[in-house]
Amino acid sequence: MKAMAVVPGQPNSIHLADLPEPSVDDVPDGRGVLVEVLRVGVDGTDKEINAAEYGDAPEGYGFLVTGHESFGRVLEVGENVRGLEPGDYVVATVRRPGSSIYDRIGTYDMTTDETYFERGINLRHGYLTERYVDDPEYIVKVPATLKDVGVLLEPTSVAEKGIEQAYEIQRRLKVWRPERAAVVGAGTLGLLGTLALRLRGLNVTTLARTEPPTLNSELVEAVGARYVSTRRMPLKEAAKEYGPFDIIFEATGVSSVVFESMEVLGKNGVLVLTGISGGDRTVEVPGDHIMLGFVLGNKVAVGSVNANRTYFERGVQDMALAEAQYPGWLKRLLTHRVQGLDNYEEMIRLLTEEKSAIKVFVEVNGHR
Ligand code: BGC
Ligand code: ZN
Repeated sequence: MKAMAVVPGQPNSIHLADLPEPSVDDVPDGRGVLVEVLRVGVDGTDKEINAAEYGDAPEGYGFLVTGHESFGRVLEVGENVRGLEPGDYVVATVRRPGSSIYDRIGTYDMTTDETYFERGINLRHGYLTERYVDDPEYIVKVPATLKDVGVLLEPTSVAEKGIEQAYEIQRRLKVWRPERAAVVGAGTLGLLGTLALRLRGLNVTTLARTEPPTLNSELVEAVGARYVSTRRMPLKEAAKEYGPFDIIFEATGVSSVVFESMEVLGKNGVLVLTGISGGDRTVEVPGDHIMLGFVLGNKVAVGSVNANRTYFERGVQDMALAEAQYPGWLKRLLTHRVQGLDNYEEMIRLLTEEKSAIKVFVEVNGHR
């Protein structure tokens, strides 16, 4: 069976590998779910794995199959699987539990273990292959009405987790009625964060460098949010004009933006950091000012990575709501299709060079 893989530690090693056919019996106790992969979305993480910036192969393998944003269809289930049957559309979660107490209660996204396991990213093969098998605990059913956009569920789950975490933290305030939100970054995650916050009824300002009109700015406006180019209006000014922001959702991965966000965050506000910066940049910040604002304003900043199945389920709900409220919006994010696993070079090219790309995805087994 074909798979797209990299040799960890070796830059630009993406190639076609051969994997043994998975079978429902690979999962013990009759709990195997065999899934045919239909589509896989790719992102900066895949680009960085191919650049050998991180990612490790599973034990016993000299390569790592990439791809963590899956969408597929169940082919076969083991005798002890309930609630999933052949033909169902599904998305699999990414992280697999380690041994910390958080892993043991299903919140593997909160692991405190040093080593973490993520399918397609670290120590576990991913989904850029023809079929995979897993335990139903990690497989989330997607209604057929969402089959054209289901491949967006994994990035949606990451946005959902960040926002849920913010609401959970803000229960400290007894009464939190957020009105204004800022989303910094208008890539896939920024757009999905914008959507989720709009679906919760907030007044949303989404900021990115590029001057409008772009597809990204149009998508922001199509859900009733405001697009601001930071070239025309920096975050600080935008906060004066459209803030104070009760919540800021950071999705750029640029560390200087994080400190700027800390500075402009409103009183009692919460800043959610989801961007990942692979670098080791040093930035100079107005430390005293930020610190004073945080203390006198009772502010919070929280980092958020990955997502467990609860957030995938929440993502399904929001995607369904999005289709009702903004029909066709999600599909517009799927900008660049790569045909088949053989076209891995084209996939990497799009991830590296295509500035207009929002979501690049691989059509693995055709769309049925
Ligand atoms: C994935 C997350 C993952 C994170 C860190 C992101 O690209 O979407 O699921 O936890 O990378 O590896
Ligand atoms: Zn990702």
